[in-house]
Amino acid sequence: MSDGRALARAYLEQQRLLGTDAVPLPPSGETAADPVATPALRPGPGPTEPAPASRSPVQPKPDSPPAGLSYDPPARDLFAADPLQQVTTLGAVADLVAACTRCRLCEARNHTVPGEGPDGARLVCIGEGPGRTEDETGRPFVGQAGELLTKILAAIGLAREQVYICNIVKCRPPQNRTPQYDEIAACVPYLYRQLEILQPKVILAMGNTAAQTLLNTKQSLGALRVKVHRFRGIPVIVTYHPAALLRNPNWKKPTWDDVRIAHRLLDG
Ligand code: URA
Ligand code: SF4
Repeated sequence: MSDGRALARAYLEQQRLLGTDAVPLPPSGETAADPVATPALRPGPGPTEPAPASRSPVQPKPDSPPAGLSYDPPARDLFAADPLQQVTTLGAVADLVAACTRCRLCEARNHTVPGEGPDGARLVCIGEGPGRTEDETGRPFVGQAGELLTKILAAIGLAREQVYICNIVKCRPPQNRTPQYDEIAACVPYLYRQLEILQPKVILAMGNTAAQTLLNTKQSLGALRVKVHRFRGIPVIVTYHPAALLRNPNWKKPTWDDVRIAHRLLDG
């Protein structure tokens, strides 16, 4: 299959996930007309008959976001001695995090904050790094930003307990500064392993650090929003960080819009 055709198929699949009803889906068990075949090869109106608008293969709803970046970091070698590759449960990842001294953030931490949520979570929400309350309790998003995240999730009918919530770095940066590049590089294998174990249906990347790390890009949040990106094939929606919403309530509406996109993908 040509690259163009593969891209078109990926696009159609995305439209289907988003619930765009104009996407022609093959009836199961039957070979349907190839949606990307040239119109002349498709059954339907003859060449003299103008095709009705609704027959056009794809008519995305105006709010269906286009495909964005795709990042596929290679999986590690399962036979390597790296203990992280040997563990198969979220609890075992958390145990490794608890003992971790791979970067300087281990020095001032009170608790590691590996993340929390059910094994079967279909949505994973990813922030930047633990703040003060998180460092004191060992739990992600339990401060003010966490309360707002709980409300955002409630708006799409999800209880916090149904979602896996975690961060890019698992220890609190001093004074809540942005984690540095080498700290992120040291810590992100834990997140990759968590995602391999969870296999979520959708990832919500909240804020620049989460979005840029997961998609391996320097593009700004503004440029990354309202697209369906992919991390190892899993759809990634980018939105504002709840702490940023506390500072700038104007971002609430766009955040709600983003979260609704994530919700539609979850239900797809
Ligand atoms: N901000 C984050 O990015 N993560 C938390 O866990 C709390 C606040
Ligand atoms: Fe280890 Fe991550 Fe904590 Fe650094 S931030 S010490 S890499 S767990």
